[in-house]
Amino acid sequence: MIPGVRLVLLGKQGSGKGTQAVRLARHFVVHHVSTGDMFRAAVRAGTEFGRKAREYMDSGELVPDEVTIGIVKERLEQAGTKRRGFVLDGFPRNVAQAQALSDYLAPQDIHLVIDLEVATEVVLKRLAARRVCSSCGTNYSVDVPPAVNWTCDVCDGEVVQRADDTETAIRRRLEIYQKNTAPLVAWYKDRDHLDVVCGEGPPDEVTSRLIDTIDRRREAGV
Ligand code: AMP
Repeated sequence: MIPGVRLVLLGKQGSGKGTQAVRLARHFVVHHVSTGDMFRAAVRAGTEFGRKAREYMDSGELVPDEVTIGIVKERLEQAGTKRRGFVLDGFPRNVAQAQALSDYLAPQDIHLVIDLEVATEVVLKRLAARRVCSSCGTNYSVDVPPAVNWTCDVCDGEVVQRADDTETAIRRRLEIYQKNTAPLVAWYKDRDHLDVVCGEGPPDEVTSRLIDTIDRRREAGV
């Protein structure tokens, strides 16, 4: 069997990070761990925690670190992520979260952090067109809608625009992303964990680029 991987995928909202994370998790047979998906599931379930998370999410702000770090650790405890690995999507978002992840994994470490790079004008266009299943979270767009009437192909749920995909919230999230991620990228670069991969072009090409990058890193013995 193909060896597993402990991978962190960074990228602005709309960079295609979520789609690529799912594909990479399938390819390397590891878990896809998306904090955004976990928070949205809590919101849908209507839990007390979901109600609190929603206030941050709707305004594009980050959910507080201690809550986020707790939920990620709990998820990583499950289902063999320590043995085969994971693709982390949306976490860490700042240096404090990265440090907590590193402490949690010790004496192991992540293999690689990939920054999926896409120009801001491209992501603004993609986000305005993005639609998502309100039930299972599958992504669509106005250009690639579900087969029938905004009904999800996977689960028959209603396909809608995300509450935080309004222009104001998108700009706020991009601003926050920029502010928090620049130090995070520097932090991982210092530890020689970082590779930058171009996220523009057809999704299949981007996936091949990502897999090549990961395989090359592994061949180099990281
Ligand atoms: P995403 O789908 O990754 O854009 O996440 C949607 C929202 O969930 C973000 O705007 C934050 O409010 C929250 N969120 C996701 N991941 C994190 C994280 N690592 N730290 C704090 N908040 C997060």
